[in-house]
Amino acid sequence: MNETGSCGANKVIDLRSDTVTRPTPAMRAAMAAAEVGDDVMGDDPTVRLLEETTAALLGKEAALFMPSGTMSNQVALRAHTEPGDEILIEAGAHMYYYEAGAPAALAGVMCRLLNGHRGIFTGADITAALRPADVHFSPTRLVCVENTHNRGGGSVWPVAALSEVANTARQHGLKLHLDGARLWNASASSGLPEHLYASFFDSVSVCFSKGLGAPVGSALVGSRAFIARARRFRKQYGGGLRQAGVLAAAALHALQHHRDRLVEDHANARLLATELADLPGVELQVNEVETNILWFRTPTRPAAELVARLKAAGVLVLALGPDSIRVLTHLDVSREDVATAARLFRQVLTSS
Ligand SMILES: *Cc1c(COP(=O)(O)O)cnc(C)c1O
Repeated sequence: MNETGSCGANKVIDLRSDTVTRPTPAMRAAMAAAEVGDDVMGDDPTVRLLEETTAALLGKEAALFMPSGTMSNQVALRAHTEPGDEILIEAGAHMYYYEAGAPAALAGVMCRLLNGHRGIFTGADITAALRPADVHFSPTRLVCVENTHNRGGGSVWPVAALSEVANTARQHGLKLHLDGARLWNASASSGLPEHLYASFFDSVSVCFSKGLGAPVGSALVGSRAFIARARRFRKQYGGGLRQAGVLAAAALHALQHHRDRLVEDHANARLLATELADLPGVELQVNEVETNILWFRTPTRPAAELVARLKAAGVLVLALGPDSIRVLTHLDVSREDVATAARLFRQVLTSS
């Protein structure tokens, strides 16, 4: 197997996630050349440059490099709350659904769930979940939003909806956190800058190792005071890294070179969706494919069986329910790969 994961003629097309990308040769060169120091002591110039660059891109005072998106979100949650507080979060949100129970285990907060449509909820949903200040109730502190929304199918929040949710939250004295693991994709899809989305929030987490293709890393941004508090919780959670400049260099390279190309991943996802929607036994709304994520249902056949058959044919995808499959496009999937994948999907779905 070579660096891009191909095995000669039998390249496996890996559509399980946009986390599977390998660093490109140019990214590896940037990593090798990185100036480093001990970042826990504040001495790593490349980490500092990444933090300044990310804060500026998102229009916030400060940023903190993080080993993972999960740590970034959960440190934010801890920094915004005290144990026993309540947060309002959408039922399919990554922070609630896919982060191993961390809100309860690490921050000690109660999650009050809001039901959105494709992950998107309204100010009225917030108002309905609020309770009066009373000794019986856990105080509500924070509203969490995810953009793009992973389990929502890569959906992009309309700015008007964000603004309405933020206004409602502010009226009630609540803080706002954005899980923007794929905020870059939201911007690539809508054409609106990341800092516009970030402007509604007290804190934002972004990921460098998803669509941007860095091997490791996320960042949390917010006010100087908030990031200073978050820095202590990052250390407490075991996320203080030493010569992390080698990783920050990959993230900087990704920010500079891999952001503009996200539109290609979106076009590839749309193309694949169009092909898949045509196949027998597939339920898929092509017009809901806004970014690099697509979900489809296979009501007549178990998803696990299809996933196994696709794997044997050379295409990797994930079953995320008894009859639902998730497919992602990314940096290591070319238009040609999409055409090949579409052909293999057809082969598997039309065979009995
Ligand atoms: C992937 C992801 C994260 C963080 O994931 P890590 O694997 O911990 O880096 C957070 N939020 C969303 C929406 C994600 O898709």
